Amino acid sequence: MSLIVQKFGGSSVADAERIRRVARRVVASRQAGHRVAVVVSAMEGETNALLTLADDFGGPDCSARESDVLLATGEQKAIALLALAIQQLGQDAQSFTATQMGLRTDSQHGRARIEHIDATRISAALDAGCVAVLAGFQGTDAEGQLTTLGRGGSDTTAVAVACALKADLCEIYTDVDGIFTADPKLVPAARKLERIAYSEMIELASLGSKVLQIRSVKIAMNYRIPLHVRSSFHEGAGTWVMREEDVMERLIVSGVTYNRGEAKIRVSGVKDTPGVAARLFGPLASAGIVVDMIVQNVSHDTTTDMTFTVPRADFARAMAIAEKIGPKLGSTGVEGDDGIAKVSVVGLGMKDHAGVAAKMFDVLARENINIEMIGTSEIKISVVIEEKYMELAVRALHAAFVEDGAETPAAEK
Ligand code: ASP
Ligand code: MG
Repeated sequence: MSLIVQKFGGSSVADAERIRRVARRVVASRQAGHRVAVVVSAMEGETNALLTLADDFGGPDCSARESDVLLATGEQKAIALLALAIQQLGQDAQSFTATQMGLRTDSQHGRARIEHIDATRISAALDAGCVAVLAGFQGTDAEGQLTTLGRGGSDTTAVAVACALKADLCEIYTDVDGIFTADPKLVPAARKLERIAYSEMIELASLGSKVLQIRSVKIAMNYRIPLHVRSSFHEGAGTWVMREEDVMERLIVSGVTYNRGEAKIRVSGVKDTPGVAARLFGPLASAGIVVDMIVQNVSHDTTTDMTFTVPRADFARAMAIAEKIGPKLGSTGVEGDDGIAKVSVVGLGMKDHAGVAAKMFDVLARENINIEMIGTSEIKISVVIEEKYMELAVRALHAAFVEDGAETPAAEK
């Protein structure tokens, strides 16, 4: 008998029929002899609708406290409905809000972090043969205030609950069949991966794959909880996210991803002296702007250019800061461009193979796509290109690295 945490996202509980289907699935796991805790998100579209309401009433300065009280209602509604649907099938079930399940977070409304889960009540329910139906996304701080974990936060709730319960595994039920080698909407030849390492999944999630909230994967990695990402619409196996050692097939490239959510800023001709980068990036950080890629040119005549990317939503604010600081650093000009996209290839096998970057650049060159910035990590290579070439780049890279007959870079390190 295993202890399984199952997480169902908003699309899996979008209407009454789907909630009943989830209930049947949960009951089947229970009948197979497992102890089951279920984490649910708000019904599809609900969180967006609540955010629009908050906007109508509070505007951009809407009280973060009240916004969280409002957002938490989405998950509260979903757990009650699912618990009722499970009970109708003759199986005991009990719903738990964050407060009832003792899910404690810090006090950062809208992006709270989980500090502790007191699993006593959930365990008691499971011991009594009951299915525990838990609200995702919400938490409660030391003062008893409601908080939320940020968009997609139910994934993180599920993995954190799995850790607290020392569960055998965490199943993430969703509206896709698993993790794909590329977005199937863009690349019809994309295929589902059987297994992927936590480290690869973390890169994919941070690069724009929206299947899992990145924090959930980091927690799963730290506590070694195997994740099974699978469809809530059929029984077929999905993708296992697991330890590097357990992923047999170390693909050179297991995913090609894209992100058009960034913008690029270049501050030209700044002095190449100690402290310049700190004076530029300090104020951006203080403004809460997360800088992604940074490239500093080789200095000529003791001046250099600094180019970096920021989330597109923060572009205007970042430009204003760069324009203010730039002249103080001797800059001759600040230029911005929000028509860019970042395209990346990710794969564990890059650790053992040379020539992946060269091959990537060659593929892009053959399509006549100009590379504006390059960034790498041990298992990832990213390039910034003009946004209008993004789809072409993703397809060409997928064809070259993933599709049948794709030759691998010859040189083994
Ligand atoms: N309902 C929340 C959202 O839409 C949390 C989640 O779905 O994971 O972001
Ligand atoms: Mg989600």
